[in-house]
Amino acid sequence: MRFVVVGAGVAGTSCARVLAERAQPGDSVTLVAAGDAIKCVEAVERITRRVEVFDVVERPLSALRGVSVLKAHVLAVDSAKRSLSCDAAGQTLEVPYDCLCVASGAVPRHLPLAPGSPTVLTLRDTDSVATLAARLAGARRLLLVGNGGIALELVDALALLPHLEVVWAVRHKEIGDAFFDTDAVCTPGDS
Ligand SMILES: Cc1cc2nc3c(=O)[nH]c(=O)nc-3n(C[C@H](O)[C@H](O)[C@H](O)COP(=O)(O)OP(=O)(O)OC[C@H]3O[C@@H](n4cnc5c(N)ncnc54)[C@H](O)[C@@H]3O)c2cc1C
Repeated sequence: MRFVVVGAGVAGTSCARVLAERAQPGDSVTLVAAGDAIKCVEAVERITRRVEVFDVVERPLSALRGVSVLKAHVLAVDSAKRSLSCDAAGQTLEVPYDCLCVASGAVPRHLPLAPGSPTVLTLRDTDSVATLAARLAGARRLLLVGNGGIALELVDALALLPHLEVVWAVRHKEIGDAFFDTDAVCTPGDS
C-alpha cells in the first residue's frame, strides 16, 4: 500500500508516524510537507481519562523514522486516478497513492471585527500563540471573552504574566462547563 499524507501539522505528522509504526512489508508512507519543518507531538502525559498534555515541537523533515517526506505544495487531487499533483520547488510532480490522508488544517471562523485589520490576530496553533505572546509584552490590561477550551488555557497562561491585569468575561454560570462536570468546575468569582 502507498500511504500519502498531506500536511505536516500535528495531525498529518501524527498520522504518518502511526502509519509507519503499523506498516506491513511492502507499504510506503509519504508525508507531503509545505515547509522546512514538521510539527511533532512529544512528551504525552495522560492527566485524566479525557485529558492529556503534550508538547508540540518543530523537527526537521528527516525526523520521522520510516516516513519519506516530500517538500511540496499540493495543487490538486485526482481521486479517480489516485494521484496528487504537487509543486516541488517550481517543478510539477505527480504522486500516486493507494490511501490518502488530507490533514491540511482548518480555516478559523473570523468575527466581523475590523476584517483584515493587522490588529486582529486569530489564535489556532503554536505560531499564532507565539505572536500573541510577543504582542502582550507591553500590554497592561486584557479583556478575555469566552469560556471554551482556548480561553481556559489562555487564562491559565496569562496569569503567569505579572504585568498584565486580565478581565475574563464569561456568560455561563460555571467556568469550563463545556469540558468538565459541573461538580468539578467553579463559579466565576470563586477563588
Ligand atoms: C491555546 C490553544 C489551545 C489549543 N488546544 C487544542 C487542544 O487541546 N486540542 C486540539 O485538538 N487542538 C487544540 N488547539 C488547536 C490546534 O492547535 C490546531 O487545531 C492544530 O494546530 C491543527 O493542526 P492540524 O495539523 O490539523 O493543522 P495545521 O497545524 O494547520 O497543519 C496543516 C499543515 O498542512 C499544510 N498544508 C496546507 N495546505 C497544503 C497543501 N496544499 N500542500 C501541502 N501542505 C499543505 C500547512 O502548511 C500546515 O503545515 C489549540 C489551539 C490554541 C491556540
